[in-house]
Parts: sequence; structure tokens; C-alpha cells
Amino acid sequence: MKILVLNCGSSSLKVGVFDVGQTTTEVFKASYERFEAGSCSYTIRSGGKTETGKIALGDIAAALRALPHILADNRITDIDAIGHRVVHGGERFRTTTVLDEPKIAAIEALTPLAPLHNPANLLAVRVAQEVWPSLPQVAVFDTAFHGTIPPRATTYAVPKAWRDAGLRRFGFHGSSHKYVAIRAAEEIGVPLRDLHLVSVHLGNGASVCAISRGESLDTSMGMTPLEGLVMGTRSGDVDPGLFGFLSRQLGLSIDQIEDALYSDSGLLALANSSDMRSVEDRAAKGDADAQLAIEIYAYRTRKYIGAYAAAMGGLDAVIFTGGIGENSPSMRRRICDGLEFMGLRLDHDRNQSVELANHAAPQIQAYGSKVRVIVTETAEQLMIARETAAALAPMAPVPQPIPVAVSARHAHLSRPAIEALFGAGYQLTPAVPLRQPGQWAAAERITLEGPKGRLERVAILGPERSRTQIEISRTDGFELGIDAPVRDSGKLEGTPTVRLIGPAGSFDTDGLIVAARHIHTNPADARRLGLVDGMLVDVHIGDQERGLVFGKTLIRIGANAVTEMHIDTDEANAADIRANGEGSLVPDLRAIAVPNKEPL
Ligand code: ADP
Repeated sequence: MKILVLNCGSSSLKVGVFDVGQTTTEVFKASYERFEAGSCSYTIRSGGKTETGKIALGDIAAALRALPHILADNRITDIDAIGHRVVHGGERFRTTTVLDEPKIAAIEALTPLAPLHNPANLLAVRVAQEVWPSLPQVAVFDTAFHGTIPPRATTYAVPKAWRDAGLRRFGFHGSSHKYVAIRAAEEIGVPLRDLHLVSVHLGNGASVCAISRGESLDTSMGMTPLEGLVMGTRSGDVDPGLFGFLSRQLGLSIDQIEDALYSDSGLLALANSSDMRSVEDRAAKGDADAQLAIEIYAYRTRKYIGAYAAAMGGLDAVIFTGGIGENSPSMRRRICDGLEFMGLRLDHDRNQSVELANHAAPQIQAYGSKVRVIVTETAEQLMIARETAAALAPMAPVPQPIPVAVSARHAHLSRPAIEALFGAGYQLTPAVPLRQPGQWAAAERITLEGPKGRLERVAILGPERSRTQIEISRTDGFELGIDAPVRDSGKLEGTPTVRLIGPAGSFDTDGLIVAARHIHTNPADARRLGLVDGMLVDVHIGDQERGLVFGKTLIRIGANAVTEMHIDTDEANAADIRANGEGSLVPDLRAIAVPNKEPL
């Protein structure tokens, strides 16, 4: 599906075209800004080329109307749908929404909550309706990801009448926080559901988000994008008492104060520039105002990270993104340097040499740091494209039977393991073919040994792999006396060590995991079932009185895979099914699609 993404601000327009399928590729990217005297600056990236310059487009509407020609010049004509970034979805819009007139009117009614942003977003919707009347228009809300924040974090302690009028915290930058959380979980090799993350988005606007088990638990922006961190021109947290003080002392009106908090505050007020690069340069040359601005900026951010670690009761990783988070090693260092007490330690060389091309997400914590630190480029437009495609995907007809196979404990062995266990040059004997093409169970068996006990006659599955991986159930882990983490196949970093014993000797290796449940499928079946690679689905298994819904089951699409769900023996026992069974996708799946890592 080809999705045009429009991210329309009050003074700039960002455009992306994405091919969304099992992977997502950005095929066109453009930005238009500095509209003045009938023209604007633009940048277009397409087909490996970048073009920049001035163009005779006097305002954003003109830039939008010119897009079909610009896209055609870049050989992009077959757009299927348009995804719009909409900043404020209020109480009403908790999910991505296919737009119609009543919904557009409802978004318009939210203008008082985001007076600068929503009208600009809606302008793009209106012009897009005119330019592409037959295409579906979809709104992806910055606030939607924060729909999971509990009332204790969304409620201001103010009079009830004010709260009844709609005063509450919402949070923004949702697409960015969601994308980087998914990307970080993928990088760490641990499912989002097992992670406590703090996402730190530092751009011109800036916010921090506590993401607990994949859900936003709190975020620093509130009813408007004014609360929280120090930003380019926005103040972030202030004492609301300043309204009375400034009115009495300086005679300022509410509008004047609000305007100054949005546009004349933050770095601009503290250091005379809203651009962190110039603030950092001037601080390095000894400018005391710039130095203080940087100290305030880092201190406020660090405070939020600590607060959110406390809010979640733990912290596995801090993720830096946004222009400053991605590009300023010194700001990352200033923010992290006070967090050693929580077990967070940076590796200064890694921090200094971060490379982010191709959606890389390097880890920059020091060896032994309890908390990981990850840097990655945000990809809000990519996330909007994926959400748009998902909102338009036809719901899979239900029920969709999916064969379920129960995987007993088994090992995949590497060459060094085979030689240590069976002798030099030994080749395993394929005995029983498995349903996945090219895979078999070997005639040979091995023993696993842990501090508590042994598991005998453990199956070996071939062919051999580059890395040894041993998959056991949680119960097996108790028999061995080793606590194996739940992991997707191949994500073996930091997994515990176990002893393998064969006829020729023993082999100590890491790679002991409890396999995360998953569904293998192929592109044709995936299309039929409405599945996308990396998506997490819920599956109902077992029709006896002990039938269960297994949540967060990972979809893995392979060219020749046979569609089959794999669960382990503990899961099968819990649902009271034997070696094989059948499951069905639970409708209304709330998928989290893992984006691909293809170059832009
Ligand atoms: P927006 O929120 O408008 O998308 P960005 O995410 O592009 O903004 O972030 C812009 C900020 O990133 C600016 O303050 C800019 O100075 C800062 N920035 C970009 N590159 C660097 C760098 N190398 N060092 C420090 N700050 C940088």
C-alpha cells in the first residue's frame, strides 16, 4: 500500500511517501518551510537524490496543491491513502481514525486545545480532500499513544468545573515515543511488554515519556505542548502563579503571557537562540547565559528521567531521539552523568561516535550498566504511514483457524557445539522432517545440566545454526535451576549459560531461552489473514473449558514458511491442548508493527 503522509505545521510542511507492506520503505521525502514573499525553501529526497532550493510557492496550501506534479515528476502516481499528523485528539480520539465530515468537525472543535497546531493539520486535510477527492484520509493523533495514562497522571488538581470543561493532561509526540520504544525493544531483543523505558525526545519541541510494558504511563507535556521540558522557544514547567504576578507587576494580558511562554521562552529566552547548536557553541566559548541554559536544559530532563523511573518502579533503558537527542553527545552526557546512582553509566566513546543511518539504534551504555542507553532517529512519518495502512486494512474475517504446534524443549546447535558434543567433523542425522520446510529433528539427543538438575534426551533440531540456541519451558528452567528469559528466536544477547552434554563431551554455552510464542506464516497467508511482519496479535486456543487467549503473539513472515503457531509445553498445558491444536485470531487486534530498517 502506498501512503502519502502529510505533517503540516503552522509554518512548515513535511511530506513522506511510504510503501507499506511486510516492510515499510520511504520512497519520497520533502519539506517546505520559510514561506515569505511568494516563495519558500524546499528539500526533496527521492530515488537516492537530494534537491534543495527556493520555489515559487507562497504558502502551505500552495505547496500542498503542487504536490501531485512534484510526486509525478518523481514517478510517484499510485497513492492509496493519505495519513495526516493531527496533534490533538482530545478525549474523543484515542486511536487512528479514518476521516469523514463529522470527524473533521469534531477535530475542528478541539482547536481551543491546540490553537496553533490543529488548524494547520486540518488545512492539510481540507486541501488533500480537494486534490485527492477519491482517496481515504486518515488522522494519526499525537495524543493517541497517551490514551493509556492513568487518571492519577492526567488529572490536574483544579476545580471540578474546570476539569468538566476539559482541563486535563494529554501528552504529545505520541508517534515518536511509540516508534522509538518499538525500535529500542527490537534492538535490545526483549519484547516491549517486558520493558520499562523512558523515551527522551529532544527537538525544537521536547518531551519525556515513561513507557511501561509498551504503554505510555506518563509524559511531560500536558494539556498543551507547553508543559514539561525546556524547549527551543517554549518554557516548559513554570509556576502557574506567574499569571497573576505578571499581570499585576507588568500589566501583561493572558494572551501576551501565553504567547511569550510559547514563542519567547525556553532556550531563546535564556540564551538568545532557540537552536541548541548555537547555544552549545557559545557556551563552549564562555558565554555564561548559554552555559546556564544548557545546565537548566539537562537538569530538567534528568529530573524527569528519575521521576519516571520512580513512577514505573524500574528502568531498563533510556532512549534519546529528536534533533538534540540524536546529535548532541554533550547534552546526552550532561543528562546521564547524574544518573549513576540508578545504575546508568554511559560509555563515553560510544556516546561520542553514534551513527544513526538506516534506522540504527546503537546502545551507548558502559559495560555492566544496569540501564541501557539507546540513541535512534525518530520516524514519526513512518509510524503515521504504518498506522494509516493498519487503519485501512480490511479486518480479517473471523474465525481464522491457525494450526498450533507444541514445541517441546529442544536445541539448535552450532558447529563448535556439535563437535564438542559428538566429535570432530560429526554430522547430525536428520530423522523426522518438521512442517517448516528444510527443518528436521535429529536422531541424536543431548542432556542439559544446570545448578539444580538435568534434563535428559533433549531433541536437537537441524540444520545446524551459526549460534547455539536452547529453548525450554519455564518449568524446565526450574528443573535446571536457571531462570531463562522469554525471547524471540535469535535474540540471544545476555542470555544465561547452560551445560550441554553429549557422547563425546560437554559444552558450556549461553543461548538458553523460553521461546516467545509466535506464528510463522508466508506472504500469501499473511495477506489473507490481514497480518504484517512484526505485528503482535491475540490468538484464542483450545475449545475445552480451559481455552485461553494468548496475547502478544509475534507474527514472523518468511517466504516459504508454513502457517503455524508455536507455543511451548507450559502454554499448551495451560490451554489444555496436546501436541497439536488449532487457534483463531482474536478480532480487533491491536497490532504494534515493527518498522523495517531499510534506508530512506
Ligand atoms: P523539530 O522538533 O522541529 O522536528 P528537530 O528534531 O530537528 O526539531 O531538532 C532541532 C534541534 O536539534 C535544534 O535545537 C538543533 O539545534 C538541534 N540540533 C541539531 N543538530 C545538532 C547538533 N549536532 N548538536 C546539537 N544540537 C543539534
